[in-house]
Amino acid sequence: MTVLCPVCSSLLLDGLVDWHKKCPDCHYECSIWSPSINDSDAHAMVDETGRSIGLTTLRKANFRIIIEQIKALNIPKSVPILDVGCAHGWFLELADKEFETLGIEPDLNIYQQTKAKGLQVRNGFFPDVLDGGEQFSLVIFNDVLEHIPDVLFTIKAVHKHLVNDGVMVVNIPVSTGFFYNTAAKLCKFGISNPFDRLWQVGFPSPHIHYFRADNLVSLVESNGFKLLNKHTLPSLSSDGMKERIAYGHKPNPIVTWVMVLILRLFMPLLVVLPADIEVFYFKKVNATDKE
Ligand SMILES: [Zn+2]
Repeated sequence: MTVLCPVCSSLLLDGLVDWHKKCPDCHYECSIWSPSINDSDAHAMVDETGRSIGLTTLRKANFRIIIEQIKALNIPKSVPILDVGCAHGWFLELADKEFETLGIEPDLNIYQQTKAKGLQVRNGFFPDVLDGGEQFSLVIFNDVLEHIPDVLFTIKAVHKHLVNDGVMVVNIPVSTGFFYNTAAKLCKFGISNPFDRLWQVGFPSPHIHYFRADNLVSLVESNGFKLLNKHTLPSLSSDGMKERIAYGHKPNPIVTWVMVLILRLFMPLLVVLPADIEVFYFKKVNATDKE
């Protein structure tokens, strides 16, 4: 199978394992996986309650940072903001205080829980569940873009559904981070579990892409956007760390506690190490701005 890089069109080469590919020119990386959302076998892999406990504190703290950035952008308030892959609605709950919001969630079970909280949410995929003419002031992907197979189509659809001067926010794990690079080095030595875990191999919706700042900005800017701002976010918090380690695979409790201890020792160092999560704010370039 010949696959071309979606960023620079170079031929992708074999990566570190048989399901991994890498672009030799722009360093874009991808997997051969495809999502199996709403497939009950895939869900048996994930303890959703553990996942929720493991991520809630960190994600909500990070979302508060993002919402402060969004407030400073002065986006139009006449149309809603759209959260693609809103999951449990944590971002929507916080953003709802400032903006009109809409979420899209493909996983039926999670959608039903989020809907029950009284949030505006639709079940399905972006942009299929939108009317052709629906417009938004901002479209955000919180740990979502890397799971969507056709990333180019998705970026073009965001452009179509944004008002003039609208903003696309991409909150995403990057391949230049400390944890990703450590996992890749271990994988070269035959220890592939951390690498598999970062790509969420065997999960209902594994990672299909791994970008870094330069190739992501290049891809989005070549499709009608201009980078406004970017910043990093912490990828670890001590609250819920044990549940987060355990949710994807049911490891030996001793192994889990050893990993928690190692990660807690590392936490003070993380501020000086390359971040594993970055957030990018892109402004839609209007047709009239191009001249
Ligand atoms: Zn490339």
